[in-house]
Amino acid sequence: MAEPDTSPIKLSANEQRAEAEALFTSIGDGAISTDEFGRITRVNPAAQLLLGYTEKELLGEWFPKMIIAVNDADQPINLIDRPITKAFLTGKPISDKTHLRRKDGSKVAVAISASPILLKGRPLGLIEVFRDITFEQEVDRMKSEFISLASHQLRTPLSAIKTYSHMLADGYMGKMTDTQHETLEHIISGADRMNALISTLLNITRIESGTIQVTTKLQRIDRIADEVIKELSLIASDKHIKLSLSTRGQDSLSVRTDSLIVKEVLINLITNAIKYTPAAGKVVLLVRPRRNDVIIEVRDSGWGIPKYDQEQIFSKFFRSQNIVKRETTGTGLGLYLVKGLVEALGGNIWFTSSEEKGTTFYVSLPRQRSAE
Ligand code: ADP
Repeated sequence: MAEPDTSPIKLSANEQRAEAEALFTSIGDGAISTDEFGRITRVNPAAQLLLGYTEKELLGEWFPKMIIAVNDADQPINLIDRPITKAFLTGKPISDKTHLRRKDGSKVAVAISASPILLKGRPLGLIEVFRDITFEQEVDRMKSEFISLASHQLRTPLSAIKTYSHMLADGYMGKMTDTQHETLEHIISGADRMNALISTLLNITRIESGTIQVTTKLQRIDRIADEVIKELSLIASDKHIKLSLSTRGQDSLSVRTDSLIVKEVLINLITNAIKYTPAAGKVVLLVRPRRNDVIIEVRDSGWGIPKYDQEQIFSKFFRSQNIVKRETTGTGLGLYLVKGLVEALGGNIWFTSSEEKGTTFYVSLPRQRSAE
């Protein structure tokens, strides 16, 4: 039998066009393409079904006029912030989650991917592909609700464990041997870890559902930093780590913010810095003012974050390879939560790191949240 011909099949321009057409028509996600001026050139059946427009109503129209993206509050999103514009300006594919307005005025939650159509580097037009994520969002909401409910329910028995173990440790039920004491200390520290984990889970569900409470008041960031340093000095000294605070521009470190959230952010970042720095290292907290915000730096002399993992460091459950092999305890939820908390305060978080040398996390806190 003759061997099958495996050389690449050459399609004529017409065949290629027919293939692209069939692909466009048959994909299950909505797809709309435009020319370089943003005029709609193609609309597939899934897009018509999702948005309620016919192909005839859309062809030739200016994309942003017909395909309107709206935010959670049903307000139209600026053209400059839409994936299609960003893809056009950067020449790169851009993904996002948003809502699109249907012909009947209702909105549908979608995941969008907009890509430029390039010919020898020149944009010929754009294609936006979008998928209905209403069901996914509903499942997500139910999951958050479940975690929130379960966490609240877990707190009650946990507080009984904590109360009675502290009573035992304090000798209310009689004297204990050293071994019994040591065992009890393990129970207490386990219960504390579980309590911290429950708080993290609850905070994450609050952030994800947009129900986090932010109560702002004029706060001195250096004072909050000082409190946190005092709270964590014991864990640092247990590991012979020098933990210190340095401030600049004392008179301009006041910010209208939520002190409890700032504290939670700092506790997370400093605990990580201590945990991921070898014994006898250094952790420095630096607070300094800028014109519109205050910057907090948490600098450590630790193991660092490898380059190849840096992009994922704020992702949920992510733990870096160099850390997993040294420190088995950890959930990978801390930084995900911290990022959400900082953003809830209207701030930003970023870092620089060098493996085996150390890491610095930077948090900027605006003097005033823009929402105010
Ligand atoms: P966890 O500490 O429970 O693993 P986090 O979300 O707080 O979770 O951190 C995620 C990962 O980021 C850590 O597992 C570690 O790999 C890395 N990381 C965070 N802070 C530091 C740091 N200061 N130095 C080195 N790696 C860090």
